[in-house]
Amino acid sequence: MSINYEHFSSLGIALVVSGPSGTGKTTVCEKLLQQNKNLHFSISCTTREPRKAEVNGEDYYFISVEEFKKRVENDEFLEYAEVHDNYYGTLKTEVTDRLKRGEDVLVDIDVQGMRQLRKAARGNDILEKYTSYVFIAPPSYTELEQRLRNRATDCESVVNRRMLNARKELKAWNDYEYLIINDEVDLAVSRLQSIITAVSIKTDRLNPVDEWPYV
Ligand code: ADP
Ligand code: 5GP
Repeated sequence: MSINYEHFSSLGIALVVSGPSGTGKTTVCEKLLQQNKNLHFSISCTTREPRKAEVNGEDYYFISVEEFKKRVENDEFLEYAEVHDNYYGTLKTEVTDRLKRGEDVLVDIDVQGMRQLRKAARGNDILEKYTSYVFIAPPSYTELEQRLRNRATDCESVVNRRMLNARKELKAWNDYEYLIINDEVDLAVSRLQSIITAVSIKTDRLNPVDEWPYV
């Protein structure tokens, strides 16, 4: 009898990624999602306005401040934070429910959100062991500003606010387990892929199902 990874039942793994706005998280994550059928993007709720080409229910759930507050009261979020004057929050249904079903989840949140999520994960059977924390950094401040301007989705004052925030966020890089410098998209994607591959074959994650020969 030969075995393969389908002989194991396991919880999914979560990949938490943060990095300053404009660093390329969305670009890199989209490529990673395309090559991983079992990896799902955790769609956050936000009170910010959709950008051109953003789709409600795909990029974010775009909701009002009132609805956001109602969801906070109903304890629907794993974490939430105010970022650049808007609220953003990760829904429990997007993360824990999926992990229980054995699906992997990619969570793109800011540094405050990562800290809350890490706290929530402590002592939590589903989140504690197989959540990896990854910081994605730009190759330089100049390049970051260039990317924000090239993206052409934000006005001058928003770009300036995001650059100020970036200076604070970049100091948090070593609060994370992994650092990815997004100098080149394909390289950044393959580094992220390596993390997923390594975590997914950890022996303590693999529960053999029937007919396990190595006893
Ligand atoms: P974030 O999700 O972190 O805010 P985006 O993915 O929207 O960032 O990327 C910001 C801009 O930078 C986009 O115009 C994107 O095409 C560009 N970009 C992303 N990664 C790179 C890279 N490695 N080199 C050059 N440009 C990049
Ligand atoms: P943007 O407005 O550029 O899409 O995102 C701005 C920032 O909000 C990014 O740093 C992104 O990682 C963060 N963000 C997106 N969703 C969430 C979330 O659910 N929670 C938290 N805390 N931050 C989020």
